Amino acid sequence: MILLFCILPVPSAVPMKKIALVYTLGGRYDEILPPLWALALATYMRQAAPGIKVDILDEQVLGAKRLAGLLARRYDLAGFSPVTQTYGNVLKFARVAKKNGSMVVFGGHYASALKKEILANRGPGSADYCLDAIVCYDGEKALHELARGTPFGGIKNLVYLTPGGQLAENPVEIMDFSRLPPVDYTLLDLERYFKIQERKMGKLGIGRTLSFIAQRGCKWAAGAGRCIFCGIQTMGGVRCIPPESAARQLSSLYRKYGVRHVYEAGDDYPANPAWLREFSAAASRLKMPALEVYAKATTLNPANAALLKAAGVKYVCVGVESFSDDILRRLNKGASAAVSRRAVSVLLEAGLIPNTALILGLPGETRETLSLTLSELKKIGLPPDCCQRTCLNIVAICPGTRLWQMLLEKEPKYRGQDLPDSHELRLDYLKHFCEAGEADLEAALKVFSNYFAARAKAGRPGRGKAA
Ligand code: SF4
Repeated sequence: MILLFCILPVPSAVPMKKIALVYTLGGRYDEILPPLWALALATYMRQAAPGIKVDILDEQVLGAKRLAGLLARRYDLAGFSPVTQTYGNVLKFARVAKKNGSMVVFGGHYASALKKEILANRGPGSADYCLDAIVCYDGEKALHELARGTPFGGIKNLVYLTPGGQLAENPVEIMDFSRLPPVDYTLLDLERYFKIQERKMGKLGIGRTLSFIAQRGCKWAAGAGRCIFCGIQTMGGVRCIPPESAARQLSSLYRKYGVRHVYEAGDDYPANPAWLREFSAAASRLKMPALEVYAKATTLNPANAALLKAAGVKYVCVGVESFSDDILRRLNKGASAAVSRRAVSVLLEAGLIPNTALILGLPGETRETLSLTLSELKKIGLPPDCCQRTCLNIVAICPGTRLWQMLLEKEPKYRGQDLPDSHELRLDYLKHFCEAGEADLEAALKVFSNYFAARAKAGRPGRGKAA
């Protein structure tokens, strides 16, 4: 609750000496990766303000107790980038940081989408004051200005409450992504991550893995083709690192740190044909880690699949979501089941491994559409190596998505909330938008998982026939 008639505390504008960028857990994760957002910000800060110490505190390697202990060491600023699954946990650590005198700042898609609600419920003057400001869109310059002690009013991309309790949204500045320094992965102890990966993912033949991003933004997200479950907050279209530079940076991860697998976080990797051609030409001349990229089914064709293959791409995660045309129409994806099937076969013919991303419980889901999706999947008969690691989830209703808006129209009780009960939210969503109930979705999730597991097992030496 905002106290409108008193003067709210505004953190004093003094230059800082010590900053923590904090990654917290939430939900269940099998894959342990160094947090790319924190590495990118820390790299920028080291170049822009070498006198300021920036620590990346990662719960994945530290554990909750040690992380809380470190946050108690009085950082001038603690920065977090919550997502739907981690937001509750982020608040716990934000309270620790605030109690110990830090300025607390959130960034990322979740905080940007719920900026008003978060500042009202957690900002200065609220009963749970643990946050001072939110950075929307690019965070590099805003963090630098905060660290220099620039008053809030002079920092682009910053959203905060004025001393009178009014929401202030500063002008937005989009950075030239191609001019940012390459991410310095040595700011973290990579071997520590690789050891945990080996323990958790080694059986899948995946280790020494990092994430990387050469393209920020998605060309579909800002327009009519935005998927209704997409929560990204985007400005400035798609911004890319020059293709040759991206290839060189990836190759240096292979040579310098022995990285063997890279998750490329771009949203539709082959969407820019000219960029992909140059990247592929440069990468094909270099030693590269195996790349895993995302692609829209509608973007894939034999020509760009061949370029991906030549560039060292091994896995392509295709957003299939469902094989029901009725559901796909409601998603605004512009893809049909036939387009998804064709995309999968294009990838297989090019010698790439498709990971078919499926979401159970999308609007219009029924027991029949769940059965249809499973039977279509069986008809495709994905080879075993396509079933090792799958992207299979029950739909999550995330702030900033069209789905979230649709639910709020039906259930106004969620307006103003920044931390709704996720189970209640799911039940309300299913009540309004799906014929399939929660039990149907949980059962289907098991059936799909078992199907993928059986096929993957069949591919291992000495095993029987595929399911
Ligand atoms: S879900 Fe992915 S492909 Fe769809 S609009 Fe969002 S970023 Fe783009």
